Amino acid sequence: MNFNTSLLHGSAIAKYPGREILPPISQVSAFRYESMEELEKVFLHKSMGYAYTRIGNPTISAFEQRLAQLEGGATAVCCSSGMSAITASLLAVCQSGDEIIASSGLYGGTIDLLRDLEKLGIHTVFAKRLTKETVGEMASEKTKVVFGELISNPAQLVLDVPAVAEAAHERGIPLFVDATTATPYIAKPLTHGADVVIHSTSKYLNGGGNSIGGVIIDGLSFPWDVNKHTALADFKKYGKRAFSIRLRTDIWENIGGCMAPVNAFFNYIGLDTLGLRMEKICKNADLLAHALDEIEGITVDYLTLEDHPCHAFVDKYLGGYGGGIMTIRAGSKEKAFRIINSLKYAMIASNIGDLRTLVIHPASTLYIYSGREEMEAAGVYDDTIRVSVGIEDAEDLIADFTQAIGSVMER
Ligand SMILES: *Cc1c(COP(=O)(O)O)cnc(C)c1O
Repeated sequence: MNFNTSLLHGSAIAKYPGREILPPISQVSAFRYESMEELEKVFLHKSMGYAYTRIGNPTISAFEQRLAQLEGGATAVCCSSGMSAITASLLAVCQSGDEIIASSGLYGGTIDLLRDLEKLGIHTVFAKRLTKETVGEMASEKTKVVFGELISNPAQLVLDVPAVAEAAHERGIPLFVDATTATPYIAKPLTHGADVVIHSTSKYLNGGGNSIGGVIIDGLSFPWDVNKHTALADFKKYGKRAFSIRLRTDIWENIGGCMAPVNAFFNYIGLDTLGLRMEKICKNADLLAHALDEIEGITVDYLTLEDHPCHAFVDKYLGGYGGGIMTIRAGSKEKAFRIINSLKYAMIASNIGDLRTLVIHPASTLYIYSGREEMEAAGVYDDTIRVSVGIEDAEDLIADFTQAIGSVMER
């Protein structure tokens, strides 16, 4: 089965009890049982069943099963947000005294979270770029996970997953990849050597900009050694499932960051069109980037432009696609603001992965509390405009950006 067919007809598409085509929305907090014995068995994991939505819910499970299959993984846990997914995944594998290796150009919220974790005794060492070499240099006995983004936002640096996974695995360390901006349409990190994949489903997986959510997908391939990963000591008997069982039955369940059932439903129907949307978004972004690249006075950064530093990965791992994010440097903050304000179709909003084209000036919003070094590691300068390309017609987007840039550059 190819991508779009498997989205609609893959084995993760369940048969629902009332013959519904879509999973019914079980918008309930709890599930009732006919006898105490039955409910006891559910709590003892001796029979399948749902008890309480924070721990499990059929609408959420329907979405989780599709995501696990789509990424080529074995288990998926849905969360209330992408940040909640990143938090739970890191707390399931690290405890006080442990270290994380991460790349410095990560999503701003993730950088802030890693700073919060310092206060819990979990230290992060940042690499300017995560490579085989930097992981080799920075890894120590204390390192419990390497964390990177497949395509960073908005810098669009691509993680060399096979090389970094190999360097991590040689040292008994797993690789966790945030693949939010890439989506499994563009690349599946688990098939390239990553151990755990995380998404903010709020973005491309939902696709319509209508639900905050996140997911953690485990390939169940990493050979956990609880002598190294002491945070998993109580889960030793589960072998390769140690991380996913601790995550689901311990950290995630106890933090209480489950996805809302109605959000799982919105995500489920959004996922149906992931292939169509990503194809159109990537094509639009490619056309827009090449058209704007011709205009003097601005600099366009997009993966499929031949001079992009990570251009080689486009054919190597990204199926020929560049994703939906690009940046434009306007020359000054004032020009960036004027270009943004002159756009007719692109909406000013702090999000990515919508059907609608969205723009923002990251330096004065998403990175307002970051230092210059942190900003520049993320590819953000005073004159940077971030564009999350939507599914409008490419001619209209090109005309809109061209008129907005033209009106500012003429003066
Ligand atoms: C948005 C985003 C997150 C955080 O997700 P939320 O759903 O907003 O909590 C994490 N990583 C990346 C790459 C993102 O774009």
